Amino acid sequence: MKSFLLTPGPTPVPEEVLLAIAKPVIHHRTKEFGQLLEHVTEQLKNVFQTKNDILTFTSSGTGSMEACVVNTLSPGDKAVVLDTGNFGTRWTKLIKTYGLEPVIVKYPWGQAARPEDLKRTLEAEPNTKAVFCQLTETSTGVVNDVRALAKIAHEANAILVVDAISGLAGQRFYQDEWDIDIVCASSQKGLMLPPGLAFVSVNERGWQCVEQSTLPKFYWDFKTYRKSLREKKETPYTPAVTLLAGAQVALNMLITEGMEHVFSRVELLARATRAGIEAAGLELFAECPCDVVTAVKVPSNLDGADLLKRMQDKYGVKIAGGQAEYKGKIFRIAHMGYIDRFDIIVALSGLEMVLFEMGYNIKLGSGVAAAQEVFLGKNTGV
Ligand SMILES: *Cc1c(COP(=O)(O)O)cnc(C)c1O
Repeated sequence: MKSFLLTPGPTPVPEEVLLAIAKPVIHHRTKEFGQLLEHVTEQLKNVFQTKNDILTFTSSGTGSMEACVVNTLSPGDKAVVLDTGNFGTRWTKLIKTYGLEPVIVKYPWGQAARPEDLKRTLEAEPNTKAVFCQLTETSTGVVNDVRALAKIAHEANAILVVDAISGLAGQRFYQDEWDIDIVCASSQKGLMLPPGLAFVSVNERGWQCVEQSTLPKFYWDFKTYRKSLREKKETPYTPAVTLLAGAQVALNMLITEGMEHVFSRVELLARATRAGIEAAGLELFAECPCDVVTAVKVPSNLDGADLLKRMQDKYGVKIAGGQAEYKGKIFRIAHMGYIDRFDIIVALSGLEMVLFEMGYNIKLGSGVAAAQEVFLGKNTGV
């Protein structure tokens, strides 16, 4: 049986990227590697829409989140977490791990962070050093207005740290134009790569914060990575060289297409997915849905775990369930990275068949037709 991967990480990897990764390993203290790292760094600037150096780490996305915490804060610092879901809560856990007590602005799952709440919080908490949030909260499928949040953080002399792990290269995002101080991302989502690389981009304001930070760090020290990159075109420790070879190819695909086109293409996939879900009679979960993943409520009379199992076992379609307290209550279809129009058609079609088998009242083809209409421009979608 053929399988289809539509999870919000990892995502499918294009064949040309897999072939690049399959080439022999090169040594990381060579001119050849230096050129590779330099090229990938330049390409990433285009994807982040920034002039900043991009630091490359060999880790999963959470590693880069931890790196952001230990490079910006010092013992006793005030930090604010805008918690819109499971990954927002991860910021809190990371910060607490280092003995700090962040101020948490918690939202019910499915809602986005409101800039006016941040404004009020920062007025009540002067001298806050940094505000942590997500561009797209993958657990709920919401997008946060990071541009507005950055403006408010700056008015209070705080920096904004954005986890763009699922949002980068899918959700519309311009680091420099939106004046976002620190952004972290990883390879296995919109960047069309296997898991294993993480990237961080820090602006001038961010570096000032990094200079003052005294939390303990060794592997994650941003200053060490920047020095290696600038002076030697290297990473301080052995990087995942084969993934970097793949990154060069994947990033070239994105840049050749053009980021504006990438953003509109992913947005179209999101509109088609949402239209398909609603036409199939299901309900969307997020109040302010993002473009990279769609969260859907499991109808109350159905078993969410069974739905996912049937999708995978019978039809080879892997979508994601809900996390934490929403396990079994929602499911999530990703449309980031190498996921394309016909993957969405496959997911909707498989979903309809499973719903039908589970006794749900559904007209076969209804969701698929709605998505097709969006792709044909006959309907703008939802
Ligand atoms: C996937 C994801 C992470 C975690 O990344 P790992 O690579 O699993 O460590 C963090 N934040 C967001 C928003 C994500 O989507």
